[in-house]
Amino acid sequence: MFKKIELVKTVYTKGEYPPPFDNEIAFAGRSNVGKSSLLNKLFGIKIAKISSNPGKTRSINFYNVDNKGYLVDLPGYGFANVSKEEKKKWAQLLEDYFVNRYSLQMVFLLIDHRHEPQKKDLEMIQWLKELGIPFMIVLTKVDKVKKSERIKKLNIIKSTLSKYGDYIYFPVSSNTGEGIGDLKNEIIRLFR
Ligand code: GDP
Repeated sequence: MFKKIELVKTVYTKGEYPPPFDNEIAFAGRSNVGKSSLLNKLFGIKIAKISSNPGKTRSINFYNVDNKGYLVDLPGYGFANVSKEEKKKWAQLLEDYFVNRYSLQMVFLLIDHRHEPQKKDLEMIQWLKELGIPFMIVLTKVDKVKKSERIKKLNIIKSTLSKYGDYIYFPVSSNTGEGIGDLKNEIIRLFR
């Protein structure tokens, strides 16, 4: 499906983004939500493991996908033990990217299927909404939710988010591969 994925740029400073393609999609979510595992599963790329080193996480990583567009790995949010200064820097970098990156088509926002969206997730949704950036919700680690519980959990999440809008949900598991095909098809559609 995807053949050549190349890390093009790691950005720590706002504005220093690579020249845009027509296509650009980004992945966002709380740290530990399963973003690295998902990107690995979807694109076959090994994302450097950063969760254990919060100080080193404030970068936006641009990957060239088959010369068709960029896949953008946004820094995970919601770390404990991060200084106010660090959080501010992260927010400024992300805000600049969201506000100024006209080539950004879609954000995939990752939320853990097991839990209700947390405050930071809701803040992110509010933010994307205010900035008019289209996004879809990826519910991660679906393998950890019993089949009999899934609809119930999904409905709780949908109902929490319904005050923001109606969204498309992709329940996925990087462990079992469940739902990965549907998400991949959506990405292929966006990269067309
Ligand atoms: P990141 O911090 O968002 O990049 O999250 P990681 O991809 O590093 O995953 C955090 C933890 O969740 C790791 O222990 C992963 O093995 C685990 N994990 C990630 N995806 C899945 C999944 O689909 N199912 C299960 N059961 N565990 C997962």
